[in-house]
Amino acid sequence: MPGFEIFGAEERKEVMDVLETGVLFRYGFDGVRKGRWKAKAFEAELAERMGVGYSHLCASGTAALSIALAACGVGAGDEVVVPPFTFVATVEAVIYAGAVPVFSEIDDTLCLDPGSLESVITDRTRAVIPVHMCGAQARIGEIKAICDRHGLILIEDACQAFGATMDGKPLGTFGRMGCFSFDAVKTVTCGEGGAVVTDDRVLYLKADAFADHGHDHQGLDRGAEGHEILGTNHRISELNAAVGLAQLRKLDKILEIQRNHKNAIKTALKQCPAITFRHIPDEAGDSATFLSFMLPDEATAREKTAKLAAAGVDGCFYWYGNNWHYLRQWDHLKQLSSAARLPLELLENRPDYPKLQLPRSDALMARTISMQIKLSWPEQAVDRRIQSMIDILKD
Ligand SMILES: *Cc1c(COP(=O)(O)O)cnc(C)c1O
Repeated sequence: MPGFEIFGAEERKEVMDVLETGVLFRYGFDGVRKGRWKAKAFEAELAERMGVGYSHLCASGTAALSIALAACGVGAGDEVVVPPFTFVATVEAVIYAGAVPVFSEIDDTLCLDPGSLESVITDRTRAVIPVHMCGAQARIGEIKAICDRHGLILIEDACQAFGATMDGKPLGTFGRMGCFSFDAVKTVTCGEGGAVVTDDRVLYLKADAFADHGHDHQGLDRGAEGHEILGTNHRISELNAAVGLAQLRKLDKILEIQRNHKNAIKTALKQCPAITFRHIPDEAGDSATFLSFMLPDEATAREKTAKLAAAGVDGCFYWYGNNWHYLRQWDHLKQLSSAARLPLELLENRPDYPKLQLPRSDALMARTISMQIKLSWPEQAVDRRIQSMIDILKD
């Protein structure tokens, strides 16, 4: 991670294909596009790779989440359970759908805790969005069983876990819909892009229409197409899709490099008794974009983070002190500060976000450091990194 580290002739060729025809739009222009359909080709290859019936490529991972919520019928006043450790986009998508984010604790997988999920379900709960954070799995089997038992819609945020699997099945294919991001820093990048996948034809058609102003995409005359529902514009351009298409074809190579690098580092760090590793339900299916480990307490975690940075071990994130991936410092969310009044503010029984307590998540996050695994590290760099890390973490 990220895929941009291995840009090459393949990406340039796909982009030039598009520029040669000048058709940057993913629909129509059949006469002049010379059979070049980058978004459509990406969708076909993605569905094949994921072993699902349908996929829709869109403008971003955030758009994918909005599309999935809309297609699944999650909207005004519906409660949606989310974890406090995610990129804020997951929560924003719920809020702008008019729905209510309800936070549940995470567990030692750093993802939604099935036990805690059960305890926050109410008669207003409509959906659950587990987030497969930092490349690996949530306890997705248990989460799915709870959703099935309570009749809840399961939507997976697999934006950070593209290519990861659980018992051989791709993450993102366990729920009614799965969401991926191909933004500039993700495992596979379109520059900006995202996708939803599903096995349900009805959901797919809703998603495909919602993402393009309700267009049903039937026939050859865009102006004459039907519109059963209102939608919006979450479309991707052919240029972005072209970059992603070349990247998607490199996924196996990306995963192999990441897994090799991570495996070497993790194996070496096992000689440091003070650290424990994030629990990964299926190690073989880890996409290996990050190595996450826990120190005995917050003070040690903060001290080690500083020492790693000072020693030039870059790419180590201490999320608990970071503004973007953990609820603790999301003051804008807690205060519901937006550009305009939110649907959520009309609801009397919304959660009291400023008073929200998630002690088990806090305790875990305060001790956790995640290190990004890069594709571009030469072998000597991995060896040097291991030596620096052992020096710092051995006691
Ligand atoms: C990146 C990311 C998103 C949003 O994706 P964008 O393409 O940047 O909109 C959503 N959820 C998670 C967990 C992410 O990491």
